[in-house]
Amino acid sequence: MHFPLEKTRNIGIIAHIDAGKTTVTERVLYYTGKTHKIGEVHEGEAVMDWMEQERERGITITSAATTCFWKPREYEEGNKITDDSYRINIIDTPGHVDFTAEVERSLRVLDGAVIVFDGVSGVEPQSETVWHQADKYKVPRICFINKLDRIGADFEAAFKSIKEKLYANPIAIHYPIGKEDKFEKIVDLLENKIYLFEGEHGEKINISLVDKIEDDELKQKIKAERDILIEKIAEADDSLIEKYLNGEEISVNELRKSLRKSCLEYKLVPVLAGSALKNKGVQLLLDAIIDYLPSPKDIPSIEGINPKTGEKEERKVDDNAPFSCLVFKIAVDPFAGTLSYFRVYSGHFKKGNYLLNVNKNSKERIGRIVRMHANFREEVDEIFTGDIGAFVGLKNTQTGDTLADENNPVMLEQIKFAEPVISLKLEPKTKQDQEKLGLALRRLQDEDPTFRVKVDSETGETIISGMGELHLEIIVDRLKREFKVETNVGRPQVAYKETILRESQAEGKYIRQSGGRGQYGHVFLKLAPLKRGEGFSFINAIKGGVIPSNFIPAVEKGVKEAANKGVLAGYPIVDIETTLYDGSYHEVDSSDIAFKIAASAAFQEGVKKAKPILLEPIMKIQITCPEKFLGDVTGDFSSRRGEIENIGSRANIKTIEGKVPLSEMFGYATVLRSLTEGRGNFTMEFKEYRQVPLNISQEIIEGKRK
Ligand code: GDP
Repeated sequence: MHFPLEKTRNIGIIAHIDAGKTTVTERVLYYTGKTHKIGEVHEGEAVMDWMEQERERGITITSAATTCFWKPREYEEGNKITDDSYRINIIDTPGHVDFTAEVERSLRVLDGAVIVFDGVSGVEPQSETVWHQADKYKVPRICFINKLDRIGADFEAAFKSIKEKLYANPIAIHYPIGKEDKFEKIVDLLENKIYLFEGEHGEKINISLVDKIEDDELKQKIKAERDILIEKIAEADDSLIEKYLNGEEISVNELRKSLRKSCLEYKLVPVLAGSALKNKGVQLLLDAIIDYLPSPKDIPSIEGINPKTGEKEERKVDDNAPFSCLVFKIAVDPFAGTLSYFRVYSGHFKKGNYLLNVNKNSKERIGRIVRMHANFREEVDEIFTGDIGAFVGLKNTQTGDTLADENNPVMLEQIKFAEPVISLKLEPKTKQDQEKLGLALRRLQDEDPTFRVKVDSETGETIISGMGELHLEIIVDRLKREFKVETNVGRPQVAYKETILRESQAEGKYIRQSGGRGQYGHVFLKLAPLKRGEGFSFINAIKGGVIPSNFIPAVEKGVKEAANKGVLAGYPIVDIETTLYDGSYHEVDSSDIAFKIAASAAFQEGVKKAKPILLEPIMKIQITCPEKFLGDVTGDFSSRRGEIENIGSRANIKTIEGKVPLSEMFGYATVLRSLTEGRGNFTMEFKEYRQVPLNISQEIIEGKRK
């Protein structure tokens, strides 16, 4: 069965850690599972043979993508449902800031997002980061203000923080009745109805009309809120504004359609109220996902590069277009093996056939395709545009690769990941661990593009790098638990880099002529600094064939290899432009290897002449602590070369925002705890690379700095 695209929603649930993402997701799966039992939407053999085993595991929400089904407003008694089921694919997004790269990657493949806020704290620092990432990827979103049952929860304050801190245009479509532990009901302002959630899991919904409310003050308040809602919807929609100004009645359906349009155009962000833990409002959230978030059809068609021509090509959102999909996550499942999660952007594809991995230029035979549900896995034969699922058992495909129709290949825009900023040395404990380590690390690396593994060619040591201390801690823990590899772990080290401040020129020669066939490579390079973050570029400016073109790739390779190990302290050299502008060759003796060696030598020589410096990662940080610890915390922060940019407050909690070198922040969690009697908190993420001050640079180079 081909599921209609307009009835599909590919969404992510995004939240600051602890805001309630897990609880919301669990409730979503619970309610959708209740109304649509396994087998209702899929028949017969759809349910896999290993299902029994899995059922014991209960609901799993750890899958990279989970599919569920929902009919909006089906719970309304007497409401004649004309809509069929909608399919919702929930794409997992990580909660911790160490994993912003993972958030980026999921934002790339989802069409819309639910942002969950804690009703007490409203917008938190990390929500800001994620919000701006969602802006970058143009993801329409709705907000769910959760935990309204908590002491101190305040819907209006949280709403205001969305407007002020996120510069968004929020629009409240709900009004909560009752505060904190008296939070009981939710008014749907569009429908003008009141929802009371009863039964053990809030599954019984008791609906009444706002008009029937006896409390006049409350009634007036709700009316005022509804007026604001309608005014805002009309204001954002040219086709409604006239009707509105003429005082004509606008139907609920018209309003909903118009709000959907404005949400898809990023003009308005609907805001909902609820408490996932107390089972209030999650069904309405599901309705809103269908009502306001885009289907794959609402998303513009995607562009990629044809690998044969290098030209841009468009892929229409259409089952009949050439097939293309993006692999956005690799996961190893204890039952199924390697799962490569994909999103289809165009076309359709039947299992048993081949796809081209465009990035690797190699073919993959697709033997099995599955779709993950909350508590079972569904085997599928054919996939269509907009689908999300997983290929089973692929060997050569990594996160970010495009798989496409081999006759019409296209490479979709690759997901850009931040560079790792922290490394540590791993030492296997025993000989057996040694053997397993390589394989395990390769697996983990396939899964996670922000995780790197390097074996030092001189010492033979294994160095792993990632986005933060926690990121690497989790990797080490997974090595132990999933792969049964025990390791000794070194101290975390900052991933320094090297670059140059000036331009320079250098010559490199590798000539051996002593009987038999000799070696001859000779180059002149010009080096120039690039802006921070621009990386590495190589320009071939050879004229008149002074070096034959077949040797140019060897020159580039020599330069790149030399750039791997800097001249100051062996860190990679970045942000540098290398131009090959002259040289010479020998008819008989010239070879790739000779040019490579000559180029490496010239590059190193050039870097030494170009005022090399060390770069270090600078982190953006937000610290929160009670007011009385502010002095101690800022004093300590400044002693870590921290720069304070802003000090704000929220109730009697102070927030300190600033920048600080990562190298000063190891073990900071412990320090902050002891400075604040355990009440301080911080979040930190990579911001930029900056020059290391000279005195510190000297210590690093001499290996004196730990
Ligand atoms: P996540 O870190 O965003 O996934 O958050 P969780 O769903 O794990 O929730 C964090 C904590 O908040 C847990 O202890 C939950 O029980 C609690 N929590 C979640 N939703 C609510 C809610 O609506 N009300 C209250 N009072 N607590 C909640």
